[in-house]
Amino acid sequence: MTLGLANGFLEPLESTSIHLVQVGISKILTMFPRDGFNERMIKRYNDEMYLEYEGVKDFLIAHYKVTEREDTDFWRYVKNMSIPESLEEKLEIF
Ligand SMILES: Cc1cc2nc3c(=O)[nH]c(=O)nc-3n(C[C@H](O)[C@H](O)[C@H](O)COP(=O)(O)OP(=O)(O)OC[C@H]3O[C@@H](n4cnc5c(N)ncnc54)[C@H](O)[C@@H]3O)c2cc1C
Repeated sequence: MTLGLANGFLEPLESTSIHLVQVGISKILTMFPRDGFNERMIKRYNDEMYLEYEGVKDFLIAHYKVTEREDTDFWRYVKNMSIPESLEEKLEIF
């Protein structure tokens, strides 16, 4: 159960660190215990934060995947690379 850079870091293509710190703080406040944190709370927090990071990861990958550039090997590669199922689903819905 950690916050900020102690919790994780994703490349700074978009600034998401402070957002993730705020999300973490509000989750901790929501489940703030009277008698200390127990294992169940810690697991719940970690599971929820994991999903937050996965969402940000999809967001970052999308920057490359939806490119219209095809002028270099790099851009051709990222345009055609496979992506997580979670992002595929989001792009389809979008
Ligand atoms: C130039 C720059 C611009 C940025 N811009 C953005 C932005 O626009 N949007 C965004 O979302 N993010 C941005 N970030 C990233 C964001 O600021 C950081 O990810 C965030 O501040 C991390 O917070 P933190 O509390 O995890 O770590 P930190 O803010 O690094 O806090 C760690 C604290 O621990 C203290 N510390 C270290 N070692 C010890 C020790 N042994 N004992 C006691 N204390 C210790 C340090 O002094 C520090 O106060 C930027 C970062 C930088 C460097």
